[in-house]
Amino acid sequence: MNRTKRSSRGRILGALLAIGGLSLGVSAYQQPPAGRGGGGRGPEGPKLIEVQKLKDNLFMLRGGGGNTAVFVTANGVVIVDTKNPGWGQTLIDKVRELTDKPITTLINSHTHFDHVGGNVEFPTTVEIIAHANTKTNMEKGLPPKGFEQLAGPDVFKANNGKNIAKTTFKDKMTIGKGNDRIDLYYFGRGHTNGDAWTVFPALRVMHAGDIFSGKTWPILDGNNGGSAVEIPDTLGKAAKVKDIDAIITGHSTVMTPADLKEYSDFNRDFLTFVREAKKAGKSVDDVAASWKNPAKYTGYQQPTAERIKANAQMIYDDTK
Ligand SMILES: [Zn+2]
Repeated sequence: MNRTKRSSRGRILGALLAIGGLSLGVSAYQQPPAGRGGGGRGPEGPKLIEVQKLKDNLFMLRGGGGNTAVFVTANGVVIVDTKNPGWGQTLIDKVRELTDKPITTLINSHTHFDHVGGNVEFPTTVEIIAHANTKTNMEKGLPPKGFEQLAGPDVFKANNGKNIAKTTFKDKMTIGKGNDRIDLYYFGRGHTNGDAWTVFPALRVMHAGDIFSGKTWPILDGNNGGSAVEIPDTLGKAAKVKDIDAIITGHSTVMTPADLKEYSDFNRDFLTFVREAKKAGKSVDDVAASWKNPAKYTGYQQPTAERIKANAQMIYDDTK
């Protein structure tokens, strides 16, 4: 490990957090409100994690990267997503305020640094679960496309591959039983090609990760298998999971299956718009100049031309 590299990463992340809780799921134009744990103050300042109790044994932890779920079972604690590099111990300390039970399991929703960064600070005895493609992405260590400069050095490479996922699944996997059961689903590509949906059936809650980071312009990571063409279907399938009341988003507040369905529709409307533009012989610049978020989607801020072009280009490339 290289001390200089570490502190350089720290500065990059610090700068990133300082400019407004920017993270891979929350764009600069849709930040969590100040004090809501959008990103804390970076490595040099206090690391703030805000706990939101969703159920007696399920908590959403905000701040320092993506939203974390903490599920307290009879035998131990299951954690979904471990925040930015350097935030693992802060996360562990926060879990210790909630329960004395041992942390047995980590689930990573996808490969991005603000969801896996803390993994390396957990003991190697903890079971680490992710989609098979996410494990491969962790091993490759490619930064998110379009956000390369923000990611910093790969945390797994810097730690000799420590705590890359060991247990993987392809379509569905169930762990635990009864009230402690967890169902993991993969519904297809979107934000990456390894977006895991974690369902706590007894509690009727789902953790979505960044494929549903909030009502925000989607980040589709071409370096890690993201897909602008598939994301509407993937979201639509997830919205059909039965007996869910609440969804922990990647970076925003808790939302509902209706919100997820709406997000699927929003993504599909863009896909249709872009495909029609391509058929009409228009360019991605034309798309960027003419796309306006439909008014029926309230709470969605208009993306920048650059962000529209990035997603439209993926659709152009994937549409024959
Ligand atoms: Zn992400």
